[in-house]
Amino acid sequence: MDELIFEQSVPGRCGVAFPPCDAPERPLEQLVPSAALRQQPPRLPEVAEFDVIRHYTRLSQRNFAVDTHFYPLGSCTMKYNPKLNDRIAAWSRFAWLHPSQPASQTQGLLQMLYELEQLLCGITGMAAFTLQPAAGAQGELTGLKIIRAYHRAKRQSRPVILIPDSAHGTNPASAALSGFRVVELASGPDGLIDLGELKRHLSNEVAALMLTNPNTLGLFERNISAITHLCHEYGALVYLDGANMNALLGIVKPAEMGVDLLQLNLHKTFSTPHGGGGPGAGPVGVIAALADFLPVPRVRKVGARFRWDARGRRSIGRVHAFYGNVGVLLRAYVYIRTLGREGLERTSRAAIINANYLKAKFSRLVPIPFGDHCLHEFVASLKPLKASGVTAWDVAKRLLDYGYYAPTVYFPLVVEEAVMVEPTETESKSTLDAFVEAMARIVEEAREHPEWLKLAPQRLPTHRVDEVKAAREPNLRWQPDAKSPAFHDAPSLRA
Ligand SMILES: *Cc1c(COP(=O)(O)O)cnc(C)c1O
Repeated sequence: MDELIFEQSVPGRCGVAFPPCDAPERPLEQLVPSAALRQQPPRLPEVAEFDVIRHYTRLSQRNFAVDTHFYPLGSCTMKYNPKLNDRIAAWSRFAWLHPSQPASQTQGLLQMLYELEQLLCGITGMAAFTLQPAAGAQGELTGLKIIRAYHRAKRQSRPVILIPDSAHGTNPASAALSGFRVVELASGPDGLIDLGELKRHLSNEVAALMLTNPNTLGLFERNISAITHLCHEYGALVYLDGANMNALLGIVKPAEMGVDLLQLNLHKTFSTPHGGGGPGAGPVGVIAALADFLPVPRVRKVGARFRWDARGRRSIGRVHAFYGNVGVLLRAYVYIRTLGREGLERTSRAAIINANYLKAKFSRLVPIPFGDHCLHEFVASLKPLKASGVTAWDVAKRLLDYGYYAPTVYFPLVVEEAVMVEPTETESKSTLDAFVEAMARIVEEAREHPEWLKLAPQRLPTHRVDEVKAAREPNLRWQPDAKSPAFHDAPSLRA
């Protein structure tokens, strides 16, 4: 059954039954200004509850998810997260709190927020955090506004942000949106920041260096102390895109690397099922010298009580309604408290071991251009397959046929035909081995039957779509494609 929900509509069918009204009825026209009243009822499908449940459950089963498939989407950290954390976040005592309730009624929640800030300070070595930003990218924007406010308070005009060419696209976007001029740093031959290149670009025009560590190639910036020292000599701040913090937990604190401010992606590192656009949380941590610029309100502890403090003469102001995505914050709090210091360190070490294991296996199949020890992810190049006309795109689509969500492709831009793999700490060796075997078969197929890869995916409800057209003119009515050739089966992988 592939009808749209609208096609399942039957006039008069209803999902809910209200009891008869027991209060005096008044016409809508008396309650709502006529300009705001609809002339026509909205076009909504008339369906029963089970129609809705079956329709959307069926659709969800056509999808890939961490709960159903290995999801090695590099950069995004799609790890399996304990369901317990979701259960606690959905607990009515938290979920039903209203953000306008007075602090006297929400002491437990305020305590959780306060303690989460302390925990994040402990993990990163920062002096203070704001929990308001709703995503990594919004954290970046918040951080850049703080950088701007800091230099402005010192009466300095510093219009430039330096960003390495391997950076995530949100970095230059956030910097540009904050009114800075972005200057790109070319990576050195080892994929790391080149100290000479950095020196050439540093001046008293530079507000900050924005870097990612481990960087988007999964490599640790070995010269990080020299890099941050150099920036500070020029009066520039160092902003860390902390989206890759899941490689560093319990091993190194960004503050000890000389970082002045950073954002964490709680939805990546600290347990929140994400993908499909959210919700997330991108708290920003700063050193003591920047704490006054953080958004307000902040939670303060006065004696044994917690309260909101909206003061802050130098604050950049609010960046989110109320206090941020509290449900995501709560998951992170439970995750951190459950694992503890040692548990967090073990997750990072396991993420690093898994990635290096996969990388070693991959390196027998395809080149790994920046082949040093990686941290939590690595980037392979499928350039050699181009000889038979096969691209990273084709391989990604073929992996779907083998039951794996496709890794990130064509990012970072410094690797040709890039495939970026992040296994995360939650996968078993047998899953990783099966994934390598699928990859080995696809590399073989690329040589022997490149046309199979051009047709992939074949086993999914929909085949290769024109991605631009699919976004601009979506056709939601799936039809089995009679013209499409049969799936070129590979022998069962687990036989
Ligand atoms: C995911 C990611 C971001 C952006 O985070 P969002 O929460 O998606 O806004 C920024 N930088 C890096 C390195 C990332 O992996």
